[in-house]
Amino acid sequence: MVGSLWDDAEAAKWVGELGPRIYTSRLLGVDPDLVLHGGGNTSVKSKHTTVFGEELDLLIVKGSGASLAEVDATGFAHLRLDHVARLAELEALSDTDMADELLKASIVPRGPAPSVEAILHAVLPHKFVDHTHADAVVTLTNSVGAERMLAETYGSTVLVVPYVMPGFKLAQLCSRQVRTDLRPGVIGVVLMNHGIITFGSSARESYERMIELVGRAEEYLAANRRTKLGSASFDTAERTPRRRERAALRAAVSAAADASVVMSCHTDAQAATFLTHPDLATISQRGPITPDHVIRTKAVPLLGRDVEGYAAAYRSYFDRHRGRSATQLTALDSAPRVILDGELGMCCIGHSARDAKIAEDIYRHTMKVILDATAIGGYEPISQPDLFDMEYWQLEQAKLRRGVARPPLTGEVALVTGAASGIGRACAEALMEQGAAVTGLDVDPDIKSAFDGPQWLGLEADVTDADAVEQALEGSVERFGGLDVLVLNAGVFAPGGAIAELDVGEWRSVMAINLDANALLLREAHPLLRLARNGGRVVIIGSKNVAAPGPGAAAYSASKAALTQLARVAALEWGSDGIRVNVIHPNAVFDTRLWSDEILADRAAGYGISVEQYRTGNLLGTEVSSSDVARLCVSMCGPAFAKTTGAQVPVDGGNDRVV
Ligand code: ZN
Repeated sequence: MVGSLWDDAEAAKWVGELGPRIYTSRLLGVDPDLVLHGGGNTSVKSKHTTVFGEELDLLIVKGSGASLAEVDATGFAHLRLDHVARLAELEALSDTDMADELLKASIVPRGPAPSVEAILHAVLPHKFVDHTHADAVVTLTNSVGAERMLAETYGSTVLVVPYVMPGFKLAQLCSRQVRTDLRPGVIGVVLMNHGIITFGSSARESYERMIELVGRAEEYLAANRRTKLGSASFDTAERTPRRRERAALRAAVSAAADASVVMSCHTDAQAATFLTHPDLATISQRGPITPDHVIRTKAVPLLGRDVEGYAAAYRSYFDRHRGRSATQLTALDSAPRVILDGELGMCCIGHSARDAKIAEDIYRHTMKVILDATAIGGYEPISQPDLFDMEYWQLEQAKLRRGVARPPLTGEVALVTGAASGIGRACAEALMEQGAAVTGLDVDPDIKSAFDGPQWLGLEADVTDADAVEQALEGSVERFGGLDVLVLNAGVFAPGGAIAELDVGEWRSVMAINLDANALLLREAHPLLRLARNGGRVVIIGSKNVAAPGPGAAAYSASKAALTQLARVAALEWGSDGIRVNVIHPNAVFDTRLWSDEILADRAAGYGISVEQYRTGNLLGTEVSSSDVARLCVSMCGPAFAKTTGAQVPVDGGNDRVV
């Protein structure tokens, strides 16, 4: 249930006219039952004195794309109120012209692009205006019998506006209705199939009216559900490995999207409850709970795994409705963004891990709203043509034509072993910077929190434990959908002794980690890597010791040499699968856990040189760091190495024994 989060002490910190506006915008933004990912917007009407001493009426409205939860002063656009309000009086205005007019009304150069709902804020006569797509309200407005239920819930405290396309048309309709129907005592506007607006003379009043009206809708739902919401679960007693099926599904979706995508699968109770609903085939295929979700989740999810069939249906949907637009439309990709499969779960898809997470968050609320609406009379969202207008409206099309610059590894999934520190951590970080989603494995439990964000999954695993490796691969594919890049980095350095005094236990332990574990991981990764849309890539962290071994570290040198040979064989065997396998041979990388200050000092002393000389003892006289190795690793996964496999490249500043 929603509740007011207003706190006098906290509110007092927000000074000026915009301060309270920012404060309550954030209060709305932090509650996902009110506002999800960029949904919702707020405004305040104010005054501004120009450089000529003239006073202007101002509309300060949230910028497009800013998230209410984190919005600050820079997230608001400052517009001439009269100019914006007058736009609603025009007979017609295209979306692109509207966006241009809003920019023309801006008095702050280089401010954010104003929300497309700015005109709507301008035509309401109140100082503060709040707009959300609150779950409980969209549930009522998307239900059979909505008008009656809204009347029972709100009486005459709200205006109800029928569905029209958000943007100019909605502002125009609201403006007319406000002029004729806005009576004293009305504290909000319910937008059918879309959301709710509240207003007031203070930020607190407008915010608390939102809480009050949404709360009343929640109470109505609680009191009027005719069927109980069940709670089901997936059969996880015997966890069947699903990674190959999931990776195959992701490959099919990537093909339909014409780009690698991230796909996260969820088999929790909420997903299970929805997936096992007896009417799933109908209730899931009606459309989103508020129109702008169509951009994130598409109109409907795919039921089952027939991605080709879904894509064909999407293309015919486009062909059926494209004539609705006066301008030439660019078709969006035909891949689903949500897949509901009885075995694989609820699979959420995006061009990046962040986008997949947004699709997941939105679909979780979609499932809740659909089940609630079904329980009070039936789920009935806007029609397909209306939805098409939203999906293909001019402003989204303009964004598409401008193109989006994405980092080169966007949508790809990498797995890095030994990623809690040193070279592995640097590789993981560099891969994420290039847009990849990364799973990091390490025996160190700190791996879990090594990085933040949806693009990171840290799993504690000992690479010599076959079960743990299998579970980690399973977990990684469940979270991201597949595997495109494998970085085999985990390794140990055991100084050991002379071969004449060989310790068999230590020898075997080094071989188990540096060689055997990698052979096993390669075997398990192969069926996943061969599904990679841009060709699978394996990067193996070898060692200078392969080409130039030293006395006294037999196990380490032999293990890295054998690992390099393993990589060469993999390159031979997997070339026909499009998988590239390359080896990096670093040397003297001291910012790793293998090296402590004491070992470093000890080594330098052993050679009779300073630590500084020891660090830079190479042809270029330069220090080599983990990030240098990571940079090469990322290059090996990108276009520079697209035609290279079976290669060995040193990162060592130049070594006279290797050159
Ligand atoms: Zn809206």
